[in-house]
Amino acid sequence: MPPLIHANTGPKIVVVGAGIIGLTSALYLAQAGFSVVVVEREPGPCENTSKANAGQLLYDRIGAMAAPGFPTSQAKALFQPDQGVRVSGLLHPSRWPWAGAFLRQCTPAAWQRNTKTLLEIAHRSRSAMATVTNRYALDFDWRKPGKLVLYSTAAGLADAQERAEFQARFGGRHEVLNAMECVAHEPALKGMTRDVAGGIYLPDAEVGDCRKFGIALASVLVDQLGVEIKYGVEILELVRDASRIRALRTRNGLIKADVFVLAAGKATANLAPARFPGKKPMTGIKGISLTFPSGDAAPDLSVTDASGKFVVLRLGNRVRIAGYAMFSDDPKITQTYVQQLTNKARALMPKAASFNETPDIWVGFRPTTPDDLPMIGRVKSDNLYVNAGHGSLGWTLALGSAEILLERISGAFGQKDGA
Ligand SMILES: Cc1cc2nc3c(=O)[nH]c(=O)nc-3n(C[C@H](O)[C@H](O)[C@H](O)COP(=O)(O)OP(=O)(O)OC[C@H]3O[C@@H](n4cnc5c(N)ncnc54)[C@H](O)[C@@H]3O)c2cc1C
Repeated sequence: MPPLIHANTGPKIVVVGAGIIGLTSALYLAQAGFSVVVVEREPGPCENTSKANAGQLLYDRIGAMAAPGFPTSQAKALFQPDQGVRVSGLLHPSRWPWAGAFLRQCTPAAWQRNTKTLLEIAHRSRSAMATVTNRYALDFDWRKPGKLVLYSTAAGLADAQERAEFQARFGGRHEVLNAMECVAHEPALKGMTRDVAGGIYLPDAEVGDCRKFGIALASVLVDQLGVEIKYGVEILELVRDASRIRALRTRNGLIKADVFVLAAGKATANLAPARFPGKKPMTGIKGISLTFPSGDAAPDLSVTDASGKFVVLRLGNRVRIAGYAMFSDDPKITQTYVQQLTNKARALMPKAASFNETPDIWVGFRPTTPDDLPMIGRVKSDNLYVNAGHGSLGWTLALGSAEILLERISGAFGQKDGA
C-alpha cells in the first residue's frame, strides 16, 4: 500500500508524551484525520520507559501481576536476595493507597477478569501491528521467534500451566516442556547452571525494539501524516475553562487545542485532575536492562527465567537482559544489580552475549495500576482524555490501546471512524 499523505484538517488534538503510548495514539488520531500535535519534554521519541524495555511482544499468554499467590510468594521473596522483586518500597506511606488497591485485586476472580481484559487489548494490538507494519516501512528488529518461560520447580511449572490453560480459553498456543526439551528448543541453554524443572513454550511470541519502532514511527507521523512533534517542551499544567481544558501551560506560553490526550506514562498522574471517575492510583515499578553485543550462542527464542524474574532475548545483533521489579523512585542503578543480573543471565545461557564487554545500562519505571489495566478514555473535563498506566506491557498493548482511544474520542465527536 502506498504511504498515506494526510491533510489533517480535523479538530486539533494535543498528545502529551512521545513514548510508545503517545506516538501510537498520535498515529491512530492522525490516520483518522485529526490535526495532531505531540508535545514531549525530552529531546526525542521514546527516551523514557519506552527506551530499552525487554522488547517482548507477547500477545496471548499475559496476565495481571495481581495474582492470588503474589502476596505469599513476595513475603517469602523478602528472604531471597537473588529473587528480582523488591517489595519493601510498598511500606512507604505514599504507596499505601496503591498497595491496598493492589491487594484487593489478588483474588482468583479479579485475576481472571483483569487478565481477560489485558488479552483483549493485546489481541487488538497483534492485528494492529500487522496492519501498521504492512502500511509503513518500520525497521525495529522485529522477529517472531517464540518464547520459553522456565520454572525452577515442578510446583511453579504446574501453577503456570494452570494459568496458561485459563489464558488458552481466549486463543493462542502453548506447550509444556521438560528440562531436556527446553534445551532442545533453545540450544543457547546448553551448559546452564540454573535449576530448571521445565518450561512453557509459546510458539507465537514476537520481539522488537520499542525505541527503534518509536523513532521510525515518529518519522512516519511527521513525514507522511502531517503530525507536528514539539520536543523539549514540558507541560506544567492544564488550563481550565469551566468544564473544558482550554490549553496546556508551558514555560514559553500556552498550547491550545480542541482535545487533549495525556499519554505521559508515570507522569500522567501528576498532570491529570486529582479525581475523576475511573482514576486509579499509579506507581512506577523500577526495572533494569542491560544490552550486550551478541555472543557465540545468542538465543533465538525469547527466554524468561520465572524464578529469577528476568528475560534474555536477541534484538538484531544485540542481546538484551531485563529484570528487577522494585517499588522505588530512585533512578540510581548500583553495580551490584548490574552484576547480579549479568551473573543470572550468564548462568542461564553462558555464551548468549559478550558478557565481558560493558553493557548499555538502562533503568525504567513501569507505570502500573493496581489491576494492571491501563486507563484509556475521557476524564472529568469534556475534552480531556488519558491513555496511560500500561505497567509492564506497554509495548505489547500500545497499538490496541491507541485503537480504543480513537474509538472513544471519535464517539465523542459523533463519528464512527474519527474526524
Ligand atoms: C525493565 C522493563 C522491561 C519492560 N519490558 C517490556 C516488554 O518486554 N514488553 C512490553 O510490552 N512492555 C515492557 N515494559 C513496559 C513498557 O516499557 C511501558 O509500559 C511503556 O514503555 C510505557 O510507555 P508510555 O508511553 O506510557 O511511557 P513513557 O515511555 O515513559 O512515555 C511518556 C512520555 O511522556 C513524557 N512526559 C512526561 N511528562 C511530561 C510533561 N509534563 N511534559 C511533556 N512530556 C512529558 C516523558 O518524557 C515520556 O517520554 C517494560 C518496562 C520496564 C521498566
